[in-house]
Parts: sequence; C-alpha cells; structure tokens
Amino acid sequence: MTTTTKRPETYTILASQVCMTCEWEGDDVPTEVSADGTVESYKCPTCDKTWTGTNDAEIAAGVRYTILRTRIDAYVAEAQRVMGKQYAEHYPNLTPDTLSAEYVSDKWAKIITTRAGTSGRSVHSFVCLKDGETKALGKVTAGDIHKAAGWKAPAKHARGSVLDLDFGNCLTPFGVAYLR
Ligand SMILES: [Zn+2]
Repeated sequence: MTTTTKRPETYTILASQVCMTCEWEGDDVPTEVSADGTVESYKCPTCDKTWTGTNDAEIAAGVRYTILRTRIDAYVAEAQRVMGKQYAEHYPNLTPDTLSAEYVSDKWAKIITTRAGTSGRSVHSFVCLKDGETKALGKVTAGDIHKAAGWKAPAKHARGSVLDLDFGNCLTPFGVAYLR
C-alpha cells in the first residue's frame, strides 16, 4: 500500500471580501477555505472582525479553481525539482528540461516538458480541472494526475492528485509513476 500525505482540510488563498460590520471591501484578503471551496473564515483588515461560514456556489467554484491552480504550480515546481536532482547527480554538465503547465481546456491542464536547447516538447502529464465522466476515462476528479495517452489526451486511471501534499508519491525523475 502507498502511504499518501493527506491533503490539508483548509487552504489560505487571497480573495475578494466584504466586511458586513464596517462595509470595508477589498481584494487579496487572506481567506481560509476548505478543499471543496467553501469559505471557512476571513478577517476584516479594518475592524478586525472575523467572518465565517460564507458559502456561495459561484464563489466556491472560483475558489476551488484558485486552489487547483495554486496546487498545479506546486506540482510543476516539485516535478522540476525531482528531475533537476536527477540531472545534478547523474548529468551535472547537462541542463535539465523545463516543465510548464498549459491550460488546454476548462477540463484539463497539460504539463509540458521542453528539452533544453531545442524546441522539442513532450507531455509530462495531465491534471484534471473539473469533476466529470467521459467514455474513454470513466469518472474523473478535479486535481487528479494522469499519464498521457498521447500529445492530446490523458490516459485512464489517476496516478495521484495535486491536492495531496505529496501528489500521491507519483513523481519520478522520468515522469509520473503508476500508483502502487
Ligand atoms: Zn470591518
């Protein structure tokens, strides 16, 4: 069995908020949200009142997307670190490939490997952005990491999730491993 570092129950993101006491409103207010996007609490920067329990479906969807993008950034950074370590140990004279995320649809982000010194590109992995179901993949869950079935499509079966702190232990210097 794989042991996975559990995803945190809450995240802090920067969001637009309104204080219902002093009517202050602003952007980039540190806001505690749960992983499903529910706003847990935020604090008014002016009067210090703490608000809890805001739950608006539209806000929640936006917040969830913000969490996902933040976690995809962390996933790409970790994949880059794992690969860089391999290069440093075994190929100290070579420049590691560069990883980046492309948001190819509202359903998938594609993580792309660009070869150092060339324009050669390959797919490292896909990250699901939206819960859903497809004929080829079955049920898919936002945050799930999939290997690539080709340049355009993810392969069946999630290998980990960007919402888990350790990404489900699926990252290797050579790409995404099978969950074991
Ligand atoms: Zn206030």
